[in-house]
Amino acid sequence: MPRFKTLAVHAGQAPDPAFGAVMTPIYQTSTFAFRGVNRPGPYDYSRSGNPTRKALEECLAALENGSAGFVFGTGMAAETTLLLLFKPGEHLIVHNDLYGGTYRLLELLAERGIAIEYVDLRDEAAVRAALRPATRAIWIESPTNPCMNLVDLAAIAAIARAAGVLTICDNTFLSPYFQRPLDLGVDIVLHSTTKYINGHSDVVGGAIVVRDAALAERIGYLQNALGTCEAPFDCFLVLRGIKTLALRMEAHHHNALEIARWLEGHAAIARVYHPGLPSHPQYALAQRQMTGCGGTFSFRVRGGQPEAFRLLGAVRVFTLAESLGGVESLIEHPSTMTHASVPAEIREQMGITPDLIRISVGIEDAADLIADLDQAMGVAAV
Ligand SMILES: *Cc1c(COP(=O)(O)O)cnc(C)c1O
Repeated sequence: MPRFKTLAVHAGQAPDPAFGAVMTPIYQTSTFAFRGVNRPGPYDYSRSGNPTRKALEECLAALENGSAGFVFGTGMAAETTLLLLFKPGEHLIVHNDLYGGTYRLLELLAERGIAIEYVDLRDEAAVRAALRPATRAIWIESPTNPCMNLVDLAAIAAIARAAGVLTICDNTFLSPYFQRPLDLGVDIVLHSTTKYINGHSDVVGGAIVVRDAALAERIGYLQNALGTCEAPFDCFLVLRGIKTLALRMEAHHHNALEIARWLEGHAAIARVYHPGLPSHPQYALAQRQMTGCGGTFSFRVRGGQPEAFRLLGAVRVFTLAESLGGVESLIEHPSTMTHASVPAEIREQMGITPDLIRISVGIEDAADLIADLDQAMGVAAV
């Protein structure tokens, strides 16, 4: 089996059978000619299947060490498709520290009779206690956004497996380069490919990867029935992004860790939340379960929201924007931006205080990024 960097460049992407194109062509077509009466070719209609999409799906399956991949128009389209596996009367255990859009979607499910129970998945006894006969799945996100808390994937997957319950892991924050949930016993991996997998902030997309054949068949059925698939041009962009995934993730990891260490020693910073720092309460778990930390983390400034706002307004290399995982560095204020729709008391419980800043560290030169934060904090201190 080829290794990760080789798979990222080649998996699902043999030279095109028509003319030998080395780059997977964009099959920008809605439909495909039959070879004769009652003789369809390998594809008939692009909602059901498309060669550009197939290449991306096979590549992602290989990178996550799964057997089947499915790609969608957005990360939320992937989640919507996945959640249609479940029926009214069934029960889902969901981590109480999740991407905001996932909460919003789960509320729609709750209105339709699927019981959603939010549990702190760091507490294994609480997970066991929450299991019911109607429980069908446990939904995990690790690390979580923005405070970078971790869930022990192998431990939760073992509890779930013993109870005959599926586990789902949103692996957006690390990408398969730094964490492979299927290898730790998780059943379903989910991605917003908008983030690190595409990595260039020029497309939105989502993905699901599984190992089990029956699950794969069911998800493929839902993808076609719901029409949530990703368009060929967007698949091409994501495929192109993936070729450099390993290189980018290494650069994100090293830059972010260097900045996190520098921030931790800075007098204007109250706290840094980064799983690669020994000060992180789950540092040992991070070392065991992840091979790197990606580029996203958060920190608290001294002086509350006014100081946070001054810093956000003074950066020059960082761009004030939501989203993460691109080659360019972004900075944002979770309590008024990405997490503004989370109810205030839950926000406080999650540690999203007004002095909290999240950064998505890009692949620029770390020295320039540190100099930018340094000058912005200088402005903040004035
Ligand atoms: C962005 C994100 C999503 C949603 O993906 P979209 O592509 O924006 O629809 C889901 N989970 C996590 C962890 C994310 O960061």
